[in-house]
Amino acid sequence: MRFLITAGPTREPIDPVRYLSNRSSGKMGYAIAEAAIAANHEVILISGPVSLPAPAGARRLEVVTSDQMHDAVHQNLTGCDVLVMCAAVADYKPAKASPQKIKKGAAGLILELVPTHDILSSIGPERNCLVVGFAAETNDLEENARKKLRDKNCDIVVGNDVSGSDRGMESDENEVTIFFRNGETKKISRTPKKIIARELVKIFSNTREKRLTKKM
Ligand code: C5P
Repeated sequence: MRFLITAGPTREPIDPVRYLSNRSSGKMGYAIAEAAIAANHEVILISGPVSLPAPAGARRLEVVTSDQMHDAVHQNLTGCDVLVMCAAVADYKPAKASPQKIKKGAAGLILELVPTHDILSSIGPERNCLVVGFAAETNDLEENARKKLRDKNCDIVVGNDVSGSDRGMESDENEVTIFFRNGETKKISRTPKKIIARELVKIFSNTREKRLTKKM
């Protein structure tokens, strides 16, 4: 199967030297890419700025902004069997990036932010691939993950609690709950991201396989 995986944060420019971003390290998405390659799948990895080497065997496309990630996903969607939107795409960006470095002044500074393109929501229901979203939440994980499953038209949402520093963002470990469209859930208790990734790849490819069999 062909996996299209996004990973890492995006950076939204404020001026030539400043940007808005988040703490995503890319570790979960890169671990999923490595696990998919190990399971003999083809992998295109669309990566925001991270300090990780490209997984051997993957085709890595490097992007910086949410707009670039949006375009890269759409340009590579044809022929893909599983889309894994693991990236922590910025939800807002500055309305206008200043072409010059903003000078410090005595007064406060108000930045106007506008919503970014929601990449998951931009993928229509007529697609052929399995669409997996991620929900990193500090509270009400189940409610928020189920809402994302519906609103963003995903087949699966992988939810994780990022309220503690021992799992989730930047950490090597994670604990996730997988929410399926039919209401089923599956929890993977705290363990290294590499092990979670192996489990996720199995679940994604089995779900995709089952769907294909049903259609035939
Ligand atoms: O709404 P929220 O940002 O919490 O949703 C997270 C999920 O949505 C992740 O799978 C992320 O990759 C995706 N996302 C997206 N486009 C955005 C923001 C998030 O595809 N602009």
